Amino acid sequence: MIIVLKPDISKKQFDHVIERIKALGLKPMVSKGTERTIIGVIGPEDQLRAQPLEVIAGVEKVMPVLKPYKLVSREFKPEASVIEIGNGVTIGGKQIAIMAGPCSVENKQMLQETAKAVHAAGAHILRGGAYKPRTSPYAFQGLGEDGLKFLRDVGKATDMPVVTELVDTRDIQEVEQYADIIQIGARNMQNYELLKEVGQSRKPVLLKRGLSATINEFLLAAEYIVSQGNFNVILCERGIRTFEASTRFTLDLNAVPVIKKLSHLPVVVDPSHSTGAWDLVGPMAKAAVACGADGLIIEVHPNPEVALSDGPQSLLPKTFAELMKELRKVAHAVGRTL
Ligand code: PEP
Ligand code: MN
Repeated sequence: MIIVLKPDISKKQFDHVIERIKALGLKPMVSKGTERTIIGVIGPEDQLRAQPLEVIAGVEKVMPVLKPYKLVSREFKPEASVIEIGNGVTIGGKQIAIMAGPCSVENKQMLQETAKAVHAAGAHILRGGAYKPRTSPYAFQGLGEDGLKFLRDVGKATDMPVVTELVDTRDIQEVEQYADIIQIGARNMQNYELLKEVGQSRKPVLLKRGLSATINEFLLAAEYIVSQGNFNVILCERGIRTFEASTRFTLDLNAVPVIKKLSHLPVVVDPSHSTGAWDLVGPMAKAAVACGADGLIIEVHPNPEVALSDGPQSLLPKTFAELMKELRKVAHAVGRTL
């Protein structure tokens, strides 16, 4: 249920509405927009239906949300969410946000080299995995806390916030300490305990779409995080499993405008994991910006031939810099900045 408040509601009236909701044993989730404030109410709705909340001073209307997800829906919040990352970086506004860096943090030196290059080319956020969810248990699993330390140090030195993946609820405090954005990988999109855990965090979350998740399931996964109180969720389309075997996954660019219609959360696209091939990253990155993505996450490696993970899809720093120039033109053509 959504309670829309009148623009001129007083503090006293607002507190009274909150009190009434709590007295019914329900949980109010407040969203302050530029125009007006709305309250999402989670819990058994029939109790609310029996109470004529419309009659309380300061309440404009009470509406049911028909979608299974509530707080992430456009009904709950009509205007797009802009997530503040730090260092003046935002995701979801006019500016396209570019996250770039290696798949895995392999050592400090390669990270420094990559970070300097992507920053010089205009990237805003440094990516790098320290805990890697690898398909094979024999593949490189990441450097763990050492990798997180390298990431934070190099991010600071190059003036970029950092994004890294959390794979285990036991590591949340450690990852929170080093990361500016906590990534939940595709394989963990339906790990509901992990989602609830990052929902309790105040750090922004980059939630990647599951390999075989529908958009409905994706938005419900985001609802798990938001319903715990963390509204700073960035959705990431990273390709889904289809019958097509020419690319690693099939990048579902339909998801970008579809999600924008259904949800107020920002959407970024990962052209690296979706294609699995470095020469396809540029075309799909440009297409993503053209169709309304709020940002991109791109893998870059100084020497992809020797990369410990995802070398075939990693761009050389020089290729990334060239792509950034082209992306700027696409961004301007669709009324965005980069
Ligand atoms: C990654 O970003 O390194 C990654 C493992 O991505 P995904 O979860 O989308 O496969
Ligand atoms: Mn990767």
